[in-house]
Amino acid sequence: MTFLGMPTLSGEPFPTAARAALGDAQLRRNLAKATGTIRAKRARVVEELPDWAGLRAAGAAIKDATLADLDTHLLAFEADLVARGTTVHWARDGAEAARIVTDLVAATGTREVIKVKSMAGAEIGLNDAFDAAGIAPIETDLAELIVQLGHDRPSHILVPAIHRSRAEIRDLFRREMPGVAPDLTDEPAALAEAARRFLRHKFTTVDVAISGANFAVADTGSLVVVESEGNGRMCLTLPRTLISVVGIEKLVPTWSDLEVFLQLLPRSSTGERMNPYTSVWTGPTEGQTAHVVLVDNGRTATLADTVGRAALRCIRCSACLNSCPVYARTGGHAYGSVYPGPIGAVLSPQLTGVAHNRTLPYASSLCGVCQDVCPVAIDIPSILVHLRGKVVEDHAPVAEAAAMRALAWAMADAGRWRRLLRAGRLGRALGRRRDRIGSLPPPLSAWTGTRDAPRPPRQTFRDWWESR
Ligand code: SF4
Repeated sequence: MTFLGMPTLSGEPFPTAARAALGDAQLRRNLAKATGTIRAKRARVVEELPDWAGLRAAGAAIKDATLADLDTHLLAFEADLVARGTTVHWARDGAEAARIVTDLVAATGTREVIKVKSMAGAEIGLNDAFDAAGIAPIETDLAELIVQLGHDRPSHILVPAIHRSRAEIRDLFRREMPGVAPDLTDEPAALAEAARRFLRHKFTTVDVAISGANFAVADTGSLVVVESEGNGRMCLTLPRTLISVVGIEKLVPTWSDLEVFLQLLPRSSTGERMNPYTSVWTGPTEGQTAHVVLVDNGRTATLADTVGRAALRCIRCSACLNSCPVYARTGGHAYGSVYPGPIGAVLSPQLTGVAHNRTLPYASSLCGVCQDVCPVAIDIPSILVHLRGKVVEDHAPVAEAAAMRALAWAMADAGRWRRLLRAGRLGRALGRRRDRIGSLPPPLSAWTGTRDAPRPPRQTFRDWWESR
C-alpha cells in the first residue's frame, strides 16, 4: 500500500493491520473511553442549536459552490496574498510541497522549526523531509508532541495521541522530554505544565514556524487556524518566518461563509460551543516574512470525480472517527494514512489513486453513522460504495469472478440449481458447534476471513415448498 506522506506503521493493508490492532485490549480501552467522551459532548452541544440541519446544509452548499469555482477563488486568494506581501508557492504533489518548505527553511539558515498541528504538513511528509535535510521539527500541539516524543504516528485527526493513556504519557515525558521532573505525575495539569515549560523555551528561541490552516478566506487573503491550546497562536506571532502549508480545498469565498464553519467545527470536533483560540493572519506583520504553499496532491483529480469530490468538503472535525464502530476498535494506525477513520477511507484512496489504497474503501460496515454526524453532510457510505466499484473495475478479483460464473451456470438450469442447493446441506457439518461457519477453504476463505457464513438449513426452501 502506498501512502500519502506518512508510511504505514506496518506497511500492511487495512485487514491485516486491523486484525493486529484488534488484539490490543489496552488500545481498545483507550479508544472507547476517549471517543465515547467526545461523542457524548458533541451530541449535547449539537442538540442545543435549533436548526443544526440547516447549518450543516449551509456548510455543504458553501463548500460545493466553492469547489465548483475553485480556480477563480484560488487566483483571487493568491492575488490578495501577494498584494499584502506574502510569497505564494504552488505544489503539484506532496514531494514538491515538502521540497519547497524545506528549501525555504534551509534558506533562513536555521536548523530548528516550530510547528502548528497541520494535517497538510503530515500529508506531505514534512517531518521526514526535515529529518532528511538535518532540520529538527518541534511539534507544539500537545498531542502531536506526545506522538513525536514517542517516535510514534498520529492515530486521530483531532487527538493524534488518542491511543495513549495518561500513565503512558507520563512515562514518555519522564524518558524523552528534556528537563522534566523525575517525579512527574500523570495528572493532566502536571503533564500540561511540563509541556508548557518545554515549549515556552522553544517559542522564544526558534525563528521559523510552520503552520497549516483550517480555512483560507479568498476575499481578503486571510488564513485561519482554530485550536484549543494557544500554541498555534504563539507559533503564528513570535517567529520571524512563517511558512503555511495549505490544501487548495481549504478556501471559503467570504467572511460570512467562514461564520458558518466556525459554528460547525468546534461543536463537531471537541463538543465545544466555541473553540478557545481562533487566529487569523492576513499577510506578514512588520519584520516578518510569510510564505504560503498551496498544495494540490491529488485534490484536482478528486475534484474531477463527480461522486468522490464531496470528500473535499471535509473540515477535518473528526466527528466521523469518533462515531465509527470500525475506527473505535482498530484505531487510526490500521488505516495506514494521515487521514484515518471514515474520511480516511474515502479521502486517502482518492488522493493517492485507488490502486494504491485498495483495501480502505472496504474498511467500513456502511452503517451510515459517519454521514449522520458529518457537519458538512458528506455521504461517506455512497462514496465508499463508489470507490469499491472502482477497485473492482481496476482489479477484478479472479476467484470471485470465477465463482460468479460457476453460480450463473448452476442457476441457469432448474435441475442443476436444485442439486447444488441439496449438496450445500453437506456444509451443515462444518457449522455444527456455533451454528455458523467460521472458515471455508479457498477461494471461499476470502469471504470467511472477515465474517462468518450461515450454516445451511436442514431443508431447502424448494423442498419445504414442495412438501406442503
Ligand atoms: S468527513 Fe465530515 S465528520 Fe468526518 S472529519 Fe470530515 S467534516 Fe468531520
